[in-house]
Amino acid sequence: MPSRARGRRAVPRSDAALERRQATPRRPVFFFDLDDTLHDASHAIFRQIDRRMTDYVERHLEVDRDEANRLRTYYWRRYGATLLGLVRHHAIDPAHFLRETHDFDVAALVRAERGLTRLFARLPGRKVLLTNAPMAYASAVLRALAVHRHFRARYTIENMRVHGAFRPKPSRMMLRAMLARERVRAADAVLVEDSTANLKSARALGFRTVLMTGHGTRIAGGCVRARRRGAPRAGLVIRSLHQLPHGLARLRR
Ligand SMILES: [Mg+2]
Repeated sequence: MPSRARGRRAVPRSDAALERRQATPRRPVFFFDLDDTLHDASHAIFRQIDRRMTDYVERHLEVDRDEANRLRTYYWRRYGATLLGLVRHHAIDPAHFLRETHDFDVAALVRAERGLTRLFARLPGRKVLLTNAPMAYASAVLRALAVHRHFRARYTIENMRVHGAFRPKPSRMMLRAMLARERVRAADAVLVEDSTANLKSARALGFRTVLMTGHGTRIAGGCVRARRRGAPRAGLVIRSLHQLPHGLARLRR
């Protein structure tokens, strides 16, 4: 008979070991978000990008500042990226929009945790970048963080197209297509993100999920600190990327 402690069934040691083995991916492949995950975009970069996007919308859609701000935020909330709304509803040229809104000295504004180069060198498994940001900007951030050589595979907004349409995070269709392209089983994939909506989508497909709360976290309406009550579930919640190596052993789906 199983023993009982305070009304709960005690897990026999062999079962506990089995559970741990099943919970830990055999060969983890890490999919890392960029903004507010690998670096603190809320510190200065988001303000820069938001201002440039509002400028762009104001200029190209010929609306006033308030309306430009409203549209930028509305499309970001509705589609996961302001770009999608502008392409879908206003026939904006995506390459032009991305170039204009991310054309600034990224390295001067990057703020991040110390020791990331060493951390990534010792973190096991393949690392893939998975961001709704554009490629030139993402690559500039990775270089500024000195972790670019660890991310040979980079999924950015330009290559998040499925059947010709932009499908950024949290699109499950895009996540499935990306797993197939990278030849990774969902059970071996670990998504590290600050966005709970993106984690929820990945989790539904079988990814292991890690919620990073150390930087600002974007929720509807803007950026807030994630230290709030009732944060949605993730397999693991970390406040620093340096908690990842140790946390892997406790990682649940
Ligand atoms: Mg993010």
